[in-house]
Amino acid sequence: MRVEHYDNAAKQGASAAANMLGAQEPHSDAHWFWSDQYEHNLQAVGLATDYDQVVIRREDPDAPAFAAFYVKTIRCRRPSRWTTPRRSCGCAS
Ligand SMILES: Cc1cc2nc3c(=O)[nH]c(=O)nc-3n(C[C@H](O)[C@H](O)[C@H](O)COP(=O)(O)OP(=O)(O)OC[C@H]3O[C@@H](n4cnc5c(N)ncnc54)[C@H](O)[C@@H]3O)c2cc1C
Repeated sequence: MRVEHYDNAAKQGASAAANMLGAQEPHSDAHWFWSDQYEHNLQAVGLATDYDQVVIRREDPDAPAFAAFYVKTIRCRRPSRWTTPRRSCGCAS
């Protein structure tokens, strides 16, 4: 799978260097990325390839910020969050 984001580029480079030096460890990482789109900040954790429901949560019903949880049965597969301004997002998988 081709993953195009800064965090993966940095971590995959470190993983490749470690393996060239003999680490012999497969590259494995919970994908996380952010992107600023004008005044909005989008962050996502994990790969949402298998889910049956998207659950939206808002701290303030009048604010544009929200968190979306891609869930399969009761397990969180990938949270993503749209915020104004930038804030961090935690995964409860
Ligand atoms: C428009 C755009 C917006 C993006 N926004 C986001 C974002 O908001 N968040 C996010 O996480 N990711 C974003 N990305 C993705 C992110 O930029 C890439 O995933 C990341 O930069 C890949 O890093 P890299 O080091 O693998 O490659 P690159 O950053 O492409 O670096 C490769 C470098 O190698 C150099 N190079 C190429 N060929 C040669 C050669 N023959 N000799 C010497 N040097 C060479 C290039 O000039 C370049 O400097 C965005 C990408 C684009 C195009």
